[in-house]
Amino acid sequence: MRYYGALEAGGTKMVLAVFDENGTLTDRAVYPTLTPAETVPRMTEYFGRFALAALGIGSFGPLDLNPASPTYGYITATPKLAWRNYPLLSAFRQALKVPVGFDTDVNAAALAEARLGAARGLDNCLYVTIGTGVGGGLVIHGKPVHGLIHPEIGHVKVLVSPDDPMPEGNCPYHGTCLEGMAAGPAIEKRWGVPGYQLPPEHPAWALESEYLAQLCANAMCTFSPEKIILGGGVMQQAFLFPMIREKTCALLNGYLCHPAIDNGLADYIVPPGLGTASGMTGAYLLAREAEE
Ligand code: ADP
Ligand code: ZN
Repeated sequence: MRYYGALEAGGTKMVLAVFDENGTLTDRAVYPTLTPAETVPRMTEYFGRFALAALGIGSFGPLDLNPASPTYGYITATPKLAWRNYPLLSAFRQALKVPVGFDTDVNAAALAEARLGAARGLDNCLYVTIGTGVGGGLVIHGKPVHGLIHPEIGHVKVLVSPDDPMPEGNCPYHGTCLEGMAAGPAIEKRWGVPGYQLPPEHPAWALESEYLAQLCANAMCTFSPEKIILGGGVMQQAFLFPMIREKTCALLNGYLCHPAIDNGLADYIVPPGLGTASGMTGAYLLAREAEE
């Protein structure tokens, strides 16, 4: 049996797992994200206990994903200062001496959803997580999109609602980008309590669904994904899905026609098929690809 390491590198915690060649999870560990000097040796020690065929990493970013770049595999401009300009990929390559696949956490999640989850059998999907931040991964023609850097769809600008009591937004870079208006911390700042304490009839959710609908409509017009998958803590409020679908339809105003979207986007804007395991499953798929 061959074994594969998978790392979901997050700003608050590192989730490590080992899968066998059938994709069955065989071991798992979680470490807090401290400094690289503290946390990386713990992780390489953990993975070193297994005779891994390859490792896959889905990481918080921004990242340098260009193999031709001298800083390929680095975490770049992150506000987490200890990790800024940190060569995450080479740290694992050098310690473990196995092939290492590397991508953003959300591209990994999008890949897993496209191969095994809500977009299984499709070549194109957008995965967006609405949690502490808003991040999006895009798979086109079966591959995660990198482009110049990689998509940062959480930071697209949205039109601010006239009903919004926090019209200035919450993103330190852009104020009223999607993350600044719709991430968990924006909800909490606007209403004084976290989203999970707000009842379904609270005006927070009309606003939230309006901003997420803007993203969905813009993404449909820009990338034409075959499925939009919305995950993350905020989307635990499942009543948001019909609200977002309805408002997305309203924004599109009948302009886009396709059998896959003619039932009010019911099968088009959906939760992750892999639940909260999309990112980790994606890291495992990156390991499989790195081995090939
Ligand atoms: P992270 O983005 O850090 O990986 P999560 O996806 O769990 O983690 O997102 C955490 C954010 O989501 C917090 O701002 C939290 O308030 C919000 N959140 C978590 N659960 C819920 C919920 N059930 N309803 C609304 N907001 C939630
Ligand atoms: Zn922003």
